[in-house]
This record gives sequence, C-alpha cells and structure tokens, in this order.
Amino acid sequence: MENTKELRNWLNDMNLGHPLVIAGPCSAETEEQVMHIANELKDTDVSYFRAGIWKPRTRPGMFEGVGAIGLKWLQKVKAETGMKTATEVANRAHVELALEHDVDLLWIGARSTVSPFIVQEIADALEGTDKIVLVKNPVNPDLSLWLGAVERLHTANIQKLGVIHRGFSTYEKTKYRNIPEWQLAIDLQTRFPDLPIINDPSHITGKRDMIFDVSQTALDLNFDGLMIETHFDPDNAWSDAAQQVTPATLIQIMKDLRIRKESDPETEYNSKLNNLRAQIDILDHQLIETLGKRMKVSDGIGTLKKSRNVAVLQSSRWNEILGKMILEGETKGLSEEFVLRMFKAIHQESINHQEKVLKA
Ligand code: PEP
Ligand code: MN
Repeated sequence: MENTKELRNWLNDMNLGHPLVIAGPCSAETEEQVMHIANELKDTDVSYFRAGIWKPRTRPGMFEGVGAIGLKWLQKVKAETGMKTATEVANRAHVELALEHDVDLLWIGARSTVSPFIVQEIADALEGTDKIVLVKNPVNPDLSLWLGAVERLHTANIQKLGVIHRGFSTYEKTKYRNIPEWQLAIDLQTRFPDLPIINDPSHITGKRDMIFDVSQTALDLNFDGLMIETHFDPDNAWSDAAQQVTPATLIQIMKDLRIRKESDPETEYNSKLNNLRAQIDILDHQLIETLGKRMKVSDGIGTLKKSRNVAVLQSSRWNEILGKMILEGETKGLSEEFVLRMFKAIHQESINHQEKVLKA
C-alpha cells in the first residue's frame, strides 16, 4: 500500500477533538430496541451508531440477526438522531443491501477476515465506494492476513479505510474472551501509522467490568477510537449479553478515560509516557505469563525425574543454560551480571517447584 497518509483523511476531516466512538447494540433486535438505544446515545460523543443486522454465530440455532428489515431501523436512527450508522457485512448480498440503505460505515467481521475469498467478494461488491470500511482483525493472530484484507479493499479503490482490533481466539482459558495481543496491533501501527485503528474492548473482554481498562490501554497506545457494544438492557440482550454496557455506563466511561490532547506540550509528554508505560505493562504481564509457563514445564520435569528416581539438580545442564543465556543476553544489551542474577532466581524457583513434586 502506498500513499497511506490519505488513509486518515476521513478521520481527520471529522475534526473530532476526541477519539472516534462507535456504539450501539451487538444486534439490532426490534425497532423499539434500536430507537431506544439510539435516542440515549444522541447528543453524546458517539459519532456512529452500530448494530449487527446479520450475526455470525459460533453454533447454529442461535439468534442470527433480524436481517434486511433492520437496515430500515438504521435509516430511521440516522433521520431522527443525526448519528451516522454502522453494520457488519459478510458477503456481496449484505454489501448491496447495506449500500441500498445508505449505511455509512461497514465493517468486515473477524470470522470473515480469515477468508481471502470472502474478503475479495466483499471488496469487489464495494469497489469504489465512498463509505468507510473497517476491517476487524482475523480470529487468529496473523498480521499478514489482517493487512491482506486491507490491501484487497485498497486495491478495490476504497479510500476510507481503517482497522478494528477485537482480540484473538485461544484454546487456553484466559481472563479475556479474545486475548488482545497488543504487540500485534502495535506492529500494525508501526508499519502503517496512518491507517486508523479502532479498539473493540467489548469483544476483547467479553465482560462489561473490564471494558474501561482495555479502552484506557488502547488510548494510551494511541488508538484512534473505540467501538463499544451498548444496550439499554444488557442482561437481556439477544447476543453478547455479558459484555454490553448501558448508555449511561458508556457515557461515564467516555468521561473517565484519560484522553490525550495533541496540542499541549505537557500533554504530549504525558501521552508519550503513558504510551511507553502501557507497553511496559504489557511486557511485564508477558514476563509473568512466561515464567508461570516455565515453572509448569519444571513441574513436568520433576514428575519425570521422580518416576526414574533421578536427582533434581544436574549441574552440567545448568551451566550449559547459563552460558547460552549470557551470550544471548549480550546480543540484547543485557549485562552478564543481570542475566546471572535473573537466572539464578529462576533456577531456584524451578528447583523449589521440582522439590515440591518429588516430595509429594
Ligand atoms: C460484532 O461486532 O458484534 C461481532 C460479531 O464482532 P467480531 O467479528 O469481532 O466477533
Ligand atoms: Mn457482539
């Protein structure tokens, strides 16, 4: 992709002075539900009203969206509240219907981004549109696949582009519904600094009480906006009930978020600092994760040694690890003294773990 500076034009032209906010229910359910939520979101910082019309559901037999009738409700939202509208499209028929009903922003969902065939079909159907098109990250943490989808749209002469970071699937259970893998989003920003990037804390967390923290991290990492699922009765929503917030909560979240203002030099300093600190927090978290995993492997070694009645400490193996890590540390600018101290501590903890297994 060349001329990426222009990718930001649609966002800069909005002259918002605050991050872009896209909000509204996971799914359009009824005309009353849509209008009720839209009326509570008008006259706030929300610029785009979202509602899923066709819902990709993991298992069949669940609510799969109201279909094209919901597009009429979105038209009513625009006419009555002045908010622009946004929905997900997953094939050519969706695109044609959404364009016919003048939806302002279309996004490609995480389950579609993984399929180059479907992305190409959508890109062909959208060819040359002046609507905004945002690409959610694929469900798997693959930056090329994500960028590949953006490239297909760019090649289809779509000028108003951006991406939505909604986290990634894991088999392992974590506190997130979809782990953020912030580093991947940071890598994308580094490669395409002008490509607008919106965070979707709703699908990352899966839980409404974690939405503020994830939103703050995203803003500290210079994300351009947020997409937050909002429903007047979240617990009774027809999809994604646990993660939706009420309009009142959304307004409070927007108020509480520390938002950087780019003009003030003092604020610029703070915003840089917050950005770096957010990166440090993520890396520290990864360190703890990795150390925890290492100790689990140690436990496995302990079990194995126990079954063969082998001693915990094999000093030749340990010296070999230390030597290798000192050399590797050097290439990363880490002093020998630091690597030694750190690995002694890690080794001691490993021994403790194995001892525990042997004595059990
Ligand atoms: C959604 O935004 O409601 C949705 C289905 O998102 P995702 O594609 O991120 O799962
Ligand atoms: Mn949803």
